[in-house]
Amino acid sequence: MSITTTTTSMPFWKEYPERDSEWVRQYPTKHVPVNEEEVFARKPMGVYVHIPFCNRLCFSCPYIKHQTDRDLTRTYLDALKTEITNYAGRPYIQDHVITLGYIGGGTPTALTAPQLDDLLGHLFGSLNVEEGADFSIETTPVDITERKATVLLERGIRRISLGVQTFVPEELKNIGRPNDPEMLKESIRLLRRCGFENINIDLMHGINGQTMESWEHSLDVAIDLGVTCISFYTYMEFAQVSTKRRKLPPVPEKAVVDDMFLFAAEKLSKSGFLGYYGDCFAKPGYQPKYGETSWSEDIPIIPLGPTATGHLRDHWYFNEPDIGRYIQTVTEGRLPISMGKHITKPEAIRRSMVLGVKAGRVNRDRFRRIHGVDFMEMFRAEIDDLTEKGLITADEDGIEVTGPKGWYYLDNISKAFYSPEYRRYPQHLGADISNFISRQPIPLQITSRPRSEETGCDH
Ligand code: SF4
Repeated sequence: MSITTTTTSMPFWKEYPERDSEWVRQYPTKHVPVNEEEVFARKPMGVYVHIPFCNRLCFSCPYIKHQTDRDLTRTYLDALKTEITNYAGRPYIQDHVITLGYIGGGTPTALTAPQLDDLLGHLFGSLNVEEGADFSIETTPVDITERKATVLLERGIRRISLGVQTFVPEELKNIGRPNDPEMLKESIRLLRRCGFENINIDLMHGINGQTMESWEHSLDVAIDLGVTCISFYTYMEFAQVSTKRRKLPPVPEKAVVDDMFLFAAEKLSKSGFLGYYGDCFAKPGYQPKYGETSWSEDIPIIPLGPTATGHLRDHWYFNEPDIGRYIQTVTEGRLPISMGKHITKPEAIRRSMVLGVKAGRVNRDRFRRIHGVDFMEMFRAEIDDLTEKGLITADEDGIEVTGPKGWYYLDNISKAFYSPEYRRYPQHLGADISNFISRQPIPLQITSRPRSEETGCDH
């Protein structure tokens, strides 16, 4: 057999007339000093812990929660500690250091002081939690005690958020809360006496019977109390169920609720608070790092507890919502990951835009560092459109949502960066979707221990 070659089949030689004599063995080619500490530095990570118990169930609450029950709570806490241990053993987690966290629910302080102490001790002792990590916790004015506040501070929790909702007695009654504003104020004084410096109050507008005057009163009381953060949420979105049944006064008209939003945004801005997420306001330096970081996707977040949401290893996911199934899965040694999505590179870019806008601003350099692309070029059409509508401002540094108009439309602005594929799907809201995942209910296996084994109860 004869083999024939022709020079026309090898155009390569014409394009590279001189062969490069440097044999490529490393990349990148520019070197700077580096040492062991840098090479083995642990990357930052966050943690979200969900406590699905409340001592008193509010009749309008849309979240999955359980009445605090001594045996169920203890069984749950055992499972939660097991989940923490299971995560702590994963090599990926060991490569990270926890720099921030959020403990929400339900009402985390529905747990007793010893239970909180035990849980936080296990959490901080099992994971690599950085000294001085930025941890927040939620509570209600009724559930917080001096003993619990002291435990939280001793364990390193620095920010506490109280669901106050309103300082007007009649409105408190209408939403089924203990209707003594003085007691609410006293809980804030208690926290301050114990040593909490960073205190957030949640307020609600759109409550049955609320007027613009009563809304202003609640805002004034909150500001006068000297808290560092004030957040406000719209009540009417999920309160309607109970209105007719309880013969409550009507909720304010939508136009009035909208005015309440704008009024609060302007009043808090003028009172020295800086806005973030549209309806959260903090005195300078007191904005929680958890929200800022988890919204802008800078670091992974471990989700702990049923319905908890996090994002690890190119996936966002949420945990099994059914508490029985959650306990069973964890006890079997598996992580209770239930549903979620692998995030491709293009979707990671969009997700950073969506969540970054939700946090109020997207920085161009930081975005380039994380994703290697210029979002100002990539989303030029969307940015031009939003700028024309007066919803954002854009400059060399990035984009910023304009307040209060843009804050009001924050979710619309975020959604401008959704992929077409996801525009018609609602997001996960912590609803119980157990029945869609499996038709087999998992009966709770709760073993009760004699009360003498409890280490104490302070509520
Ligand atoms: S305290 Fe909060 S989580 Fe618990 S029932 Fe009331 S609104 Fe829902």
